[in-house]
Amino acid sequence: MSNIISSDELGIDLILLNGKIITLDPWGTIAEAVAVRDGRIVKVGSTDEIKCLAGSRTRVIDLRGKTLLPGFIDSHEHCISKGLQADWVNCATPPMKSIDDIIKALAEKAAEKKEGEWIIGTWFDDTKLRENRFPTKHDLDRASTEHPIYLGRAGGHNAVANSLALKIAGISRDTPQPAGSRIEKDESGEPTGRLDELAAMNLVRGKIPSPSPEEATRIMVENWPRLEEELLSWGLTTIHEAHIKAPEALAYQKLLRQGKLRLRVGLMLDGMAPYKGYATSDLSRQGLCTGFGWSDKLRVIGVKLGVDGAMGSKTAYLNEPYEDEPDNVGISRVTLEELTEEIVKCHEAGLRVCIHAIGDRAIDMALDSLEEATKRKDWRDHRHRIEHAGLVWENQLEKMRRLGVHVSASIGFCYPIGDSHLEALGEWRMKGYYPMKSFRKYGIVAGGNSDGFGSNWAITGIYGCVTRKTLKGHILSKEEAIPVIDAIKVYTLNGAYLEGMEKEKGTIEPGKLADMIVLDKDVLTIDPDEIIDLKVLMTIIGGEIVYRRTE
Ligand SMILES: [Zn+2]
Repeated sequence: MSNIISSDELGIDLILLNGKIITLDPWGTIAEAVAVRDGRIVKVGSTDEIKCLAGSRTRVIDLRGKTLLPGFIDSHEHCISKGLQADWVNCATPPMKSIDDIIKALAEKAAEKKEGEWIIGTWFDDTKLRENRFPTKHDLDRASTEHPIYLGRAGGHNAVANSLALKIAGISRDTPQPAGSRIEKDESGEPTGRLDELAAMNLVRGKIPSPSPEEATRIMVENWPRLEEELLSWGLTTIHEAHIKAPEALAYQKLLRQGKLRLRVGLMLDGMAPYKGYATSDLSRQGLCTGFGWSDKLRVIGVKLGVDGAMGSKTAYLNEPYEDEPDNVGISRVTLEELTEEIVKCHEAGLRVCIHAIGDRAIDMALDSLEEATKRKDWRDHRHRIEHAGLVWENQLEKMRRLGVHVSASIGFCYPIGDSHLEALGEWRMKGYYPMKSFRKYGIVAGGNSDGFGSNWAITGIYGCVTRKTLKGHILSKEEAIPVIDAIKVYTLNGAYLEGMEKEKGTIEPGKLADMIVLDKDVLTIDPDEIIDLKVLMTIIGGEIVYRRTE
């Protein structure tokens, strides 16, 4: 048999064969082998078909029956800014179990620092502490009264400050409540130290000396490789960065220029309250719109706006009060008028909005504003997004479908923190909790995310989609579970669709970017309970092997 051109002339860079390849193409094809050239997939087929394309410079990898799928796309995380937290005390619960554990860690940090220097702690979760409550300023004063202490809760919507920090921030019994937020006060009117939502938290945060923007950029660039390595080991090939300000955007551009950015990153630029007007005045004025890209690694995918808080800390904005707290329906950071004004401006400027809305009342506000925006200008394929979408009912799903609104669902919460959500919302509301099956039924494209919680984000989210199980073993509305193949789509094709890149990635088909991962077990056939333990053996981005498990 004589070929018209030799296999060397085909220039195939990489071949993976003898695998079980979940292509996610429209026909549901399971293939055996794939060939890659210049960063893209050129052919998918049987091992025999692909094998003969190998030339002398082709790298050939025998998958030995292992499962290969498109790289995971996580559609809402906050990654690069973690580089600024190297000096912070990680108070994640677990491993911390009690307020005493947190105090001990903060006191140890204080011992390393000069009097008056700030101590910053982060990631505590009151619902997982033995005491099942927020620490107070009195608790934190036990760690130090000579250092101001600021302790942020997981989720970024609440914090606790010690007495010195409150004093520096000028917070006293006489301080009025900042709009859209809360300074918690005890029965006598004295601040407890707890601060809910940005406007209150910023009173203290604004006093913490922060690195200059240039310094922040430098620190983030320096710390990125270590952070990125972990993301690659979880099989992530694209992340959507859910809140980018100038230093973060500059850090990513610097990494890209230096050839140090391996992940693909979609940026949601900062339009969050209380920076009202920032999104449109600064972004559209400068001609930035959705789809603007520096390369296929780094693109602007939208503007991040925010409505409410978080469920676990009971600040997500609800139509009905939290369980056992008849007076608490959560917090809205903006009025409907403010939100509508901002969304209309973005819509008119061709900027996709990515609206943080967790509670059902916040989602109502987001949808009302979006409805108004879509009336003003005909932009059919806007793909405006609701970020998180934690509590959603039929009438809202119907409205999303009608308006062409999609969601980045935090189904990754289900396993690590779903227990606290069950407690906050009550069993009766679980039908509307990240309703993955209903999203699909209404034709709403749902991507997945963990918003920084837990680890191994995509696999944890897929486990949540399929089993709806929490860490403690509760099942949060089994009827909203989806088949594993659809759960994989949540973290691949759907994520690509949310950023308008479904023709470029999200499946294994000829012409698409060669972003692929290899798993240690067959995700389609294992017991669903085993999904949580799946390991990524190899991660490939643009045809380059960027991660390989060694043990
Ligand atoms: Zn977020």
